[in-house]
Amino acid sequence: MNAAPPLISVAKIRKSFGSNKALDGISTHFSSGITGLIGPNGSGKTTLINILCGALKPDAGSIEIFGRDVVGQGQHEIARLGVARTFQTPAVFPHMTVFDNVAAGLSPEGLMSNLRSRRHSAREVCECLAVVGIEGRQFDEATDLPLGELRRLELARAIARRPKFLLLDEPASGMTPVETDSLVATIADIAERGVAVLIVEHKLEVVMSLSERILVLERGKVISDGAPETVQSDPVVRDAYLGFGGLDA
Ligand code: ADP
Ligand code: MG
Repeated sequence: MNAAPPLISVAKIRKSFGSNKALDGISTHFSSGITGLIGPNGSGKTTLINILCGALKPDAGSIEIFGRDVVGQGQHEIARLGVARTFQTPAVFPHMTVFDNVAAGLSPEGLMSNLRSRRHSAREVCECLAVVGIEGRQFDEATDLPLGELRRLELARAIARRPKFLLLDEPASGMTPVETDSLVATIADIAERGVAVLIVEHKLEVVMSLSERILVLERGKVISDGAPETVQSDPVVRDAYLGFGGLDA
């Protein structure tokens, strides 16, 4: 489907929590553009994201990011390679300003004490806030933001380090339909700037409209993988979603 070499490849990834096999042998790859990752609750989506960003170590399997073997590397090392993420529950510093939250996402070198680099950082922070549409909020404390803007703040912080690959875990959850539509446009904009995106999202219309390719997990295994229309009409996927309102819900 995509001729470019994969940016991220995983092979035979396993991760159990006690006797619970959260990931039961995942082999796949992620290329440029937007890839959607869907599956019923508990199917292993967040666990896969945690493993890709180095927050969790797999029990077995290999991971290559931008051609490097990264198994055993922690999240700071993987972040330094150019992989950023957002969380299902926004993880911001509540009593810091929006501006400072994003500044904290910049590389430590960007926050060095000499004035030139500080000015440079300020401009970069403002640019990131503008990309996600919350530039007017820069002096507000994060705790004062409604959920929709908190998620945008997380996104701004993630792109502040100019990642090559962005992992988004349910960025639209808890958002109104209007906030969701606007977020979809922001994510498409970020991808158009050349950032590859892997998006986990419960709202299927979001994944269907954004993704060039969709990967479906069920019980820690990939059960379908392909273009949105292929996956949507895959009987295996329809079965997996029975009881979850179906794929058209
Ligand atoms: P999803 O994001 O697809 O809803 P998760 O990756 O969060 O699923 O979880 C996959 C499975 O692993 C679930 O059964 C979940 O309960 C379990 N799990 C995830 N994280 C932990 C953890 N830290 N400790 C114990 N069990 C976990
Ligand atoms: Mg999850």
